Amino acid sequence: MPKSDNASSASPARQGLPPEFIERLQRILTPDAFEEILRTFHMSKETTFRVNPLKSDADSLKKELESLDLHPETIDWLPGAFRVPEDERRALTESNAFYEGRLYIQNLSSMLAPLLLAPEPGERILDLAAAPGGKTLMMAGMMENRGWISAVEPVRERFHKLRANIDRAGASCVHTYLKDGRGVGRALPERFHRVLLDAPCSSEAKFSTLRPQSYAFWSRRKIRESRKLQRRLILSAWESLKPGGRLLYSTCSFAPEENEEVVDFLLRKNPQARLLTIDLPVENSMPGLLRWEKKSFDPSLSRSRRILPTREMDGFYLALIQKEPNR
Ligand code: SAM
Repeated sequence: MPKSDNASSASPARQGLPPEFIERLQRILTPDAFEEILRTFHMSKETTFRVNPLKSDADSLKKELESLDLHPETIDWLPGAFRVPEDERRALTESNAFYEGRLYIQNLSSMLAPLLLAPEPGERILDLAAAPGGKTLMMAGMMENRGWISAVEPVRERFHKLRANIDRAGASCVHTYLKDGRGVGRALPERFHRVLLDAPCSSEAKFSTLRPQSYAFWSRRKIRESRKLQRRLILSAWESLKPGGRLLYSTCSFAPEENEEVVDFLLRKNPQARLLTIDLPVENSMPGLLRWEKKSFDPSLSRSRRILPTREMDGFYLALIQKEPNR
């Protein structure tokens, strides 16, 4: 296990964050990536957003925002997505376009999950951990509001936020359920064409030294607790998926226990589960790990991807899993 020397452990890039978190990150990443990524925890992030195609289109939204003296720039790899300079964030969140649901502020990494799951109009989709609804709404847009999205969220306050966002976006194909996702698979087996499990996690990729509260409660124990819930949720997600369907599992954690280990757990229990290769439109990523501490994972876990954080993108983990049809 690499140990940091005294000089580097005192470096500004390491200050503030829990030392054990840094030590784990160093074992997950290559040395070059590690140093670069450490710096991102101290940066203020770019503000990115996307048009809600149910209420506007990219050109009209851009013109509307420019008329307010904002300067949206398009993201070249994702039609309908934009960035604005940091000092325009406030004006963006005070615009009518924001209040009336013509745009949704969302990190670009989060936009990758619906993009890879690729829901189609008319399909039945399950979003098993949905609030506040950014990915649900992106899927509703991709489906042109046609079909059915079941959006599940058990935390009441977050559920109401989800409902408000859906209403604001005019996403009438979304049906909300104040429920624990762990019971959904048993209640609705083989019901959905595609399932998104953007799992509750230790949120390591949201850590920022500008907000020390973001990591105040981090611990290995929290990671283990998250893993336990994630295992139950991924089995439920799997059970609810039709043969031939696809499951997208994602987290905003760097912890292998919450990422590769959870997917490996599903693969071991289900011979019908096959990991698909993920083609990403961005370069800041690395393959899923094949071992962590004393555990080795199925070799196909290298098909899952870890998004490496930048000033514009949060760290993220993505795995796309196909349920092979019954023979
Ligand atoms: N997909 C959301 C989005 O893009 O806006 C973010 C989801 S967030 C990462 C995970 C969510 O899972 C949280 O809202 C959390 O309250 C919810 N959650 C926690 N326990 C759950 C459970 N047992 N079943 C379903 N969801 C759960």
